Amino acid sequence: MVHTVLGPIAAEEMGVTLAHEHIACFSHSMKQTFGERWFKTDELISAAVKLLLKARDRGLGTLIDGTPNNLGRDIRILREVSGRSGVNIVASSGMYYSESAFLENKSPEFFADFFIYECVHGMAGTDSLPGILKCATGAQGFTPNNITLLKTMALVQKATGLPLFAHNIHALKTGLRQLDILEQSGVDLSRVIVGHCSDTCDLPYLESLLERGCYLGFDRLRPNADGNRAQAETICALIRRGWLERLLLSHDYCVFLDFRNNSWADIKAQGFEDLPLDFTYIQRCFLPVLRGMGVTELQIKRMTSLNPASIFEPQHERSAAVFVRNLNGV
Ligand SMILES: [Zn+2]
Repeated sequence: MVHTVLGPIAAEEMGVTLAHEHIACFSHSMKQTFGERWFKTDELISAAVKLLLKARDRGLGTLIDGTPNNLGRDIRILREVSGRSGVNIVASSGMYYSESAFLENKSPEFFADFFIYECVHGMAGTDSLPGILKCATGAQGFTPNNITLLKTMALVQKATGLPLFAHNIHALKTGLRQLDILEQSGVDLSRVIVGHCSDTCDLPYLESLLERGCYLGFDRLRPNADGNRAQAETICALIRRGWLERLLLSHDYCVFLDFRNNSWADIKAQGFEDLPLDFTYIQRCFLPVLRGMGVTELQIKRMTSLNPASIFEPQHERSAAVFVRNLNGV
């Protein structure tokens, strides 16, 4: 069972899945205060629907939206975009890294209570349940607030059984300590995705994470200077070393992100036709690179459909393994 914003579906209904994307990341306080002057909600929804329809034409079934509340999750926007595009959207509970004052001097148990509540009763007054949990460690590293956040999400994961996505910074090797904290808090690491692993080609680091039992999110696959060859070679090397069943592909693309110098006016001005990066980049550009290196259609199906399903339904992993064996004729 997977909770999408429009209700539960079976994991095998997910189809081709992008494991980490965003419809919109924005400041709730700016939006609440300045409304449509901050961004035009209807315009954003129309743009997101257009981009998802294009991705659906290339086979996309499900998008996992990695936007927790403090990154601007807006459940009503997600519901409308999913309904109009026909693409399943899985929304995130949890928290992005932050040093906001409201985090200080509170316990993991205090925060966990809130997140467990929305996992049981629905997000922001709707009946949409989160399907995945998000936590993050930023460049500040493991501050007291960040450790509280990670321990909070460990409690929520154990209470809800939902998979947990961890935003990791490879340069600081934060994934390893995140896994330590989660494991010490009792989380089964086979329900954890360490994200942003496509930012590095450091095989020893990536394997040191995989050996802990987690999944790796190769989730920043975007146009780059070498045509993604180094990233594809890293994935090929991991497949050769037996890690195929733990790899996920995605873009971490966001239709509207208000970080840094971005504004809705600028995003809108670039239009939404023929963007170099959108929800179809992997299908258009990255999979051909993998195929050129000998990755098979079955292995691609593993990474794009079966592995995402197995995160939500661990028992699905077994049926997926049988499916793969049958396809292989063994
Ligand atoms: Zn993201």
